Amino acid sequence: MARIFAYILHSNGELDDSALELLAAAKRIDPDADVTAIVTGSGIDDVCGKAAQSYKTVWKIDNEALSYPNAEVVRKALVNILPADSIVLLPHDHFGMDLGPGLSIKMDSSFVSDVVDIEKVEGNTLKVIRQEFTGQVSTHVHCDISSGAVVNMRPGVCQPAEGQAGEVVDKSGEAGDLSAKRKFVEIQEAEAGEVDITKSDVLVSVGRGIEDEDNLEIVFELAGAMGADVSCSRPIVDAKWLEKARQVGTSGKTVKPKLYMALGISGSFQHVGGVKGNPFIVAINKNPKAPIFQVADVGVEADILEFVPELTEKIKEL
Ligand SMILES: Cc1cc2nc3c(=O)[nH]c(=O)nc-3n(C[C@H](O)[C@H](O)[C@H](O)COP(=O)(O)OP(=O)(O)OC[C@H]3O[C@@H](n4cnc5c(N)ncnc54)[C@H](O)[C@@H]3O)c2cc1C
Repeated sequence: MARIFAYILHSNGELDDSALELLAAAKRIDPDADVTAIVTGSGIDDVCGKAAQSYKTVWKIDNEALSYPNAEVVRKALVNILPADSIVLLPHDHFGMDLGPGLSIKMDSSFVSDVVDIEKVEGNTLKVIRQEFTGQVSTHVHCDISSGAVVNMRPGVCQPAEGQAGEVVDKSGEAGDLSAKRKFVEIQEAEAGEVDITKSDVLVSVGRGIEDEDNLEIVFELAGAMGADVSCSRPIVDAKWLEKARQVGTSGKTVKPKLYMALGISGSFQHVGGVKGNPFIVAINKNPKAPIFQVADVGVEADILEFVPELTEKIKEL
């Protein structure tokens, strides 16, 4: 069985939620696997220590060239340290999408992206599940791992695993030449909006199912009755119906509410990828096959234009 590695994202000294989700994914491939975490960056002793609370082995690659996320540099470092037939798990966020395909080419291994579930390995075949047609169809993919594989896991699809504490191994000296053609320029902080949805405990989130800008009124009324803030999916921002600061998702804000209510939102991975912290999710959608129902704790098949005003009245009565 090939050795399994998980690439750990981190920022401001904290592990990304994907760190323990990848451990869970690795355990689905092999429950007995001694999974190795890889942490890259500069001055990363603390974050490596945090990873070592759950991973038995953590490979640290500490180098000034890795101070900022640059997939070209990380790829070079990984190619130099990874054994030839490794299975490498990455989060399928924008960085993983940048890193994964090139890494698999350099390692001459298979690549499969946006994986929502891993079944098992049989012989040299890894069975994974992806979604097609905006999540309406599940595809079972048989991936040849005879020369290794890079697997990008969709964030949020695995419950974080509880691992065993382990040790940090410094691999910085083996990273090789980390010069790059691509240069980091700057991080631009998003403008602050009217509300800071990243701090909200309760979010009422609206998607394209609202159909018309004027209909947003019913969403704000529901949010008002619940003491919630209003967030949205990207098409609502693209239509300029709500400000960018309210957009949830991989190109919007990452939110960690206790309750997330999704109104007329299909549940694309770019949207759901921004909903972290395992909130209680209530989805209201008129399409029973909408992918949002796969991640919802409560699903209501209904027309939001009819259901939401009624719900608001009931909540006000209570
Ligand atoms: C690089 C990239 C980054 C992206 N980043 C983001 C991001 O950060 N955030 C984000 O949200 N998206 C993002 N997207 C877009 C994403 O792929 C989806 O297109 C988007 O999330 C869909 O938004 P939606 O669910 O509101 O709309 P749709 O996918 O159109 O879904 C609308 C839903 O409403 C339902 N519906 C329609 N009418 C009603 C009704 N009357 N009552 C009840 N239900 C109804 C439909 O059944 C459907 O499920 C990104 C895309 C790319 C390529």
